[in-house]
Amino acid sequence: RWIYMSGEYVKKEDAKVSVFDHGFLYGDGVFEGIRVYDGNVFRLREHLVRLYDSAKSILLHIPYTMEEMEQAVVETVRKNQLRDAYIRLIVSRGVGELCLDPEKCARPEVIIIADQVRLFPQETYEKGLHIVTVPTRRNVPDALNPKIKSLNYLNNILVKIEANRAGVGEALMLNSDGYVAEGSGDNIFIVKRGVLYTPPGYVGALEGITRQAIIDLAHQLQFQVKEEPFTRHDVYVADEVFLTGTAAEVIAVVNVDGREIGDGKPGPITRQLLTEFRRLVRVDGVQ
Ligand code: PLP
Repeated sequence: RWIYMSGEYVKKEDAKVSVFDHGFLYGDGVFEGIRVYDGNVFRLREHLVRLYDSAKSILLHIPYTMEEMEQAVVETVRKNQLRDAYIRLIVSRGVGELCLDPEKCARPEVIIIADQVRLFPQETYEKGLHIVTVPTRRNVPDALNPKIKSLNYLNNILVKIEANRAGVGEALMLNSDGYVAEGSGDNIFIVKRGVLYTPPGYVGALEGITRQAIIDLAHQLQFQVKEEPFTRHDVYVADEVFLTGTAAEVIAVVNVDGREIGDGKPGPITRQLLTEFRRLVRVDGVQ
């Protein structure tokens, strides 16, 4: 494996960052998770737009143009001879001093890792996930705005820990008003009477690239999609529930807080969207 580190390719074993890197010291940086399917980097431009927006929001200047970054991502996949991969693109504030001030950091560090990933086994896609809602809330403070995909993922990690302790694979965060926001690393959709609902960004959800791909696919399939806030009650009484994300793709949820969703099996609309999504990712991407 070759890891891209600010312009150079370094062997996996040698790919190390300084303990003075503010990404490590303070979680000061941004990142993206991107998939490669059959040699196509899925929606790379959209991921880069989100990355550059996240960086701009925290006043982190990425020292490459978007075209240069696109090239670096494609080249890293090629150099690692991967047809199907998960890419982790990280831009940290870089090496600085033992103080918060980012002005003490000389230059950001850009890292691209291309590796394999499998979040859930195929069986889970067929049977569906059991999830719970957890005490950790998805709030929307300035710097930890969920729209910024920053290296501060402690909130999401707490959700994962709470899911693990409840003995399930994933969990849902509510925001401080009690509206459903998202999972630890994925967006949520519910289906009621043939209509799809997903929380709008302002509720406290990252505007997922997979979420948008599913909204587009659903429109093409003539389904109505509403970006509207909803509560736990709406999830419990939904006909279908599913999660979307770069790692999770489209995965049915069949049980929430011990309550069966629909008939307890992945629903027809979820299954149709997963099939269409898996078709789309093989043709829509940067080679
Ligand atoms: N929500 C959070 C908190 C995430 O970290 C992710 C993963 O990137 C998502 C949702 C899903 O977004 P995407 O479909 O762009 O991967």
